[in-house]
Amino acid sequence: MTDCQHCHKPMKPAAANMLCANCRETYWKLIHQLGHVQLPTLRSIMLRQAHIGPTGHTPNKGNAPLPIDTHAQDLIAESEAWLAEQAGKIRAAYAAYDWRKAWYAIISNKHTILAMSTAADDYANLQHIIRRNEQALTPEAELIILGTCQNCHSMLTGTPEAESVTCQGCHMEWAVPAIKAARDERLWQIQITGTPSDAAKELKRYGLTVSRNLISQWLKRGKLSHATPTEHKRQYTFNLGELAALLDCHR
Ligand SMILES: [Zn+2]
Ligand SMILES: [Zn+2]
Repeated sequence: MTDCQHCHKPMKPAAANMLCANCRETYWKLIHQLGHVQLPTLRSIMLRQAHIGPTGHTPNKGNAPLPIDTHAQDLIAESEAWLAEQAGKIRAAYAAYDWRKAWYAIISNKHTILAMSTAADDYANLQHIIRRNEQALTPEAELIILGTCQNCHSMLTGTPEAESVTCQGCHMEWAVPAIKAARDERLWQIQITGTPSDAAKELKRYGLTVSRNLISQWLKRGKLSHATPTEHKRQYTFNLGELAALLDCHR
């Protein structure tokens, strides 16, 4: 009898693995979560926030800080380093891949990854990374992205009911409907790759509520001319502007 190197429960003696079946399954789920959900989300947030410095915490009216701040960059670097390290263990040349290719290399070498002699440590490190990412990605409250300050281009966030918002950057006050209208125009420049459920979650960050079923229906009926399928089942590259516009027609 050998013990699982992660949960330390006894395993079947036949297993040549460091991890028990349970841990292998969870480990694999986390790998998926990292490349499929967390990294794309962190990266899209970082891109949109690139010009915003840290903000103070003054939750009145519509000007609360974002749930995620400049840590995003650290979290991304740590996540990507983990992927590069694993990919490099599959084949040395893979260590130089960008994160997406590294992730694909890992995903397509399931057996190699799960049976690796370092799997227990790799899994423990990944757990830590996933937990930190998750914490950063969990919204403080029900804040939504209202839009961008037209004076200093800071991101404006607030509650879904906010009617006016004060910019954290330049202290200008804005009427929310106009800010939102400008935001919805800019959504046409934002793409998200994922399942209909991922797209629905992303829209929710803007206070736009749509079910994943409705997005799936739109796909089936050919209503999303900007959505392109990816090589992965049920995953598309969606245009947020198109989704928001269709949602508008639906109201
Ligand atoms: Zn285990
Ligand atoms: Zn401003």
